Amino acid sequence: MVRTLLNNDVVFFCPSVDPSAYAKYGTTMVASGASHASDYVNKLKRQNIHSTGTAHFLSINSHDTQAHPELANAFALDIEQKPIPVPWIHHEATSYFGCVNNPAFRAYGRSKVCEAMASGPQGLHIDEYLGSAYAAVSDCGCFCPHCIHGFAQYLSKLNNPDLLSLAKADTFDGFEYLAFVKTITTNTPQYISLLPTIPLHDEFIDFQLQCATANALSMAALAADIVDSAVTLSATISIPSPEYLPIVPHLSYCVSNIDHEPQNMPKGLLQTVKAYRFAEALQKPLAATATPENWAFINSHNADNLACVWIALANACGQVFMAPNRILCSAIDNGPHWFCGSAATFAPLYQFIKNHGGLLNDFKAVGPLSVPLAAPTSFDTTHKRQTFTDAINATPISPIMATDTVWVFPRMKSDGAIAIHIVNLAFDLRANRNIPAVNVEVHLPNSLFKRDFSGATVHSCNSEPYKIQVTNNENTCTFVLPEVKLWDIVTFEYWA
Ligand SMILES: [Zn+2]
Repeated sequence: MVRTLLNNDVVFFCPSVDPSAYAKYGTTMVASGASHASDYVNKLKRQNIHSTGTAHFLSINSHDTQAHPELANAFALDIEQKPIPVPWIHHEATSYFGCVNNPAFRAYGRSKVCEAMASGPQGLHIDEYLGSAYAAVSDCGCFCPHCIHGFAQYLSKLNNPDLLSLAKADTFDGFEYLAFVKTITTNTPQYISLLPTIPLHDEFIDFQLQCATANALSMAALAADIVDSAVTLSATISIPSPEYLPIVPHLSYCVSNIDHEPQNMPKGLLQTVKAYRFAEALQKPLAATATPENWAFINSHNADNLACVWIALANACGQVFMAPNRILCSAIDNGPHWFCGSAATFAPLYQFIKNHGGLLNDFKAVGPLSVPLAAPTSFDTTHKRQTFTDAINATPISPIMATDTVWVFPRMKSDGAIAIHIVNLAFDLRANRNIPAVNVEVHLPNSLFKRDFSGATVHSCNSEPYKIQVTNNENTCTFVLPEVKLWDIVTFEYWA
């Protein structure tokens, strides 16, 4: 059976430069990392570490076309039939989107998957799975002949008379969407400015996103064939961008950069909590990290302990925060492109997480951060993605706060077990340490649990568990924590 991602997994974003780090952290998974030699992957397997090969299906540059001349005609094209550059890749040679519907680009993608899986890793990670579909959602393509042909077939299968009247057509057999759009406008800037009034645009986006998903799934099947075993499939998604969602139901787990707004502590973390709630509603585990800009902030302030707050917060919200052994970082003044955390700072926290699966796995948020039950769990159409986003945003959310800087996250299992996470966000940036919170009173509405409690136990990193009293009043239960350094998890005991 293919593994999933558990809350007490210890995940490295990419392979460690120092192999001894795996034992120090108790690593169980390497989420990304291109292709590796077989002996390296075998070493990880012997340490029970799940490894992944990484591939992406995004771009073609001049180096690629020199090595693979057939790619010269595999670019994603705008309505003027010009190749569409990838806006965020700034190399000497311009990179263009490759079209995932072009057989030559698909073959190139398959060769990349073969390389990534040759050493026998147990999973395939796809970075930038959207590929040319990203060009579609950023409003300019792809209008290559393969996409136009595929879109006509897609529309035919929908068999919707309303769409035929929008297209002013009797049939979608041989329908030329490029020619149709050109009756409205013939240049790309005007096309972009006229969206979304262009007929069939939503369907065109749905078609492109479904093609990107199908391409990723075919690559996962290829990966499984290569290693002759089922593999995990993971992909990098952007939260809360709805266009990344169609692949989510097919993933073993998602990977995402979440903004922590460190320059705006602690209020900026409200957005982070919101992003984690969005992820919880997707009903797939998330391996998160902070953005490269967030890591640059930590590097420039020498404030690595701030990342411990981020790790605690992710766990309190039911997600996995990847161990910052080596993680992408924006360079400042030619500084490093990687944040490389020290095991002395982070390993004890990850050992705590690894050893406390019983407090972390299979819990769901209750209270203000609980996810809407009616939200869709598949995202292949614009309508479903909009319904999901509307359900998530239907009510403004904010965590329970014991104080402005001590936030409380009640979570419950289906068997009624309860774990209350208390995270202390008071952080002295100059001193690079949490400011301990003392005598923290926590009040929780009884409506969350619908029962009384006889007592509670407090679990935290670097200290032994200890018992505290719980007071049950008519509408609330109350307990007091003598000191919260970073993160406590409180479990409740019931009257017999
Ligand atoms: Zn195309």
